[in-house]
Amino acid sequence: MGSNRIGNLKFGDATLFLFDPFSFIGGGNPNQHPEFVQILEYTRRNGIVPNYTTNGRGLTDKVIKASKQYCGAVAVSAYAPFTETASAINALINEGIKVNLHFILTTETIATAIEWLKHPPMMLEHINAIIFLNYKPIGRSVVPELLLNASELMGEFFEVVTSIKHTFKIGFDSCSVSGIVSYTKANPNTIEACDAGRFSMFISEDMKAYPCSFYISSDSGVPITDRDSFFAAWQTSELFQAARTYFRSYDCDCKYSNMCLNGCPIFPEIRLCNQARRKKEGVAL
Ligand code: SF4
Repeated sequence: MGSNRIGNLKFGDATLFLFDPFSFIGGGNPNQHPEFVQILEYTRRNGIVPNYTTNGRGLTDKVIKASKQYCGAVAVSAYAPFTETASAINALINEGIKVNLHFILTTETIATAIEWLKHPPMMLEHINAIIFLNYKPIGRSVVPELLLNASELMGEFFEVVTSIKHTFKIGFDSCSVSGIVSYTKANPNTIEACDAGRFSMFISEDMKAYPCSFYISSDSGVPITDRDSFFAAWQTSELFQAARTYFRSYDCDCKYSNMCLNGCPIFPEIRLCNQARRKKEGVAL
């Protein structure tokens, strides 16, 4: 379940899936769902430790108390000018909640990321991890110029990521794997290609299954009404089979192709490796 349209998802619908080991809750600002606390409590009671992502709004005392009681961690999305980001982090950390910061990397934000890694602001002092997310061209304002692979700063960014020790951990979404394999010497055991349709499923607020939430931009999804249709979506639907076929059919001649498995099946333009390879080969960009 996810996105800031989560208000349409019924608690009863969500409970259909919370017994399954690959179920998850996330995305958007789910803490503003009217039954959010109840969902957290139910999820935990059924043996799953919930985590969620918030933009920092709607973190009421009740939500924070429930987060401490039931969640493993809370992720806060970083949005400039970062005042709401900082106060959300402080509110959660003051209650002893583990906090991760989600930071979207674009041609415009990468300089801030580098600066933060070199000179971390106070708000990062007690976080658990910063997770960098590769910008996807989707939503109300698609700006191709923001695509990270156009940035001249990628080399510096990955250098800073791997060369400076921090009090917090650093992670990436699987949409960034093509950059990690191209720019770093990260241990392959710590890298996993996109898991959409392989280890994870996204369920929209209107009860449709997708390999990942970004598929909504290009596919109508697989309707699920009960546990049988849920398993059928995962096991036999064309949409999920096609995603797996895509990852199995990687045809790139790059030596890292078996690690990134062709990259993103929806947005080939978010790949971070072309520029890296051309740079390594000394080809003008
Ligand atoms: S399908 Fe694309 S956008 Fe979705 S998780 Fe995979 S790489 Fe990211």
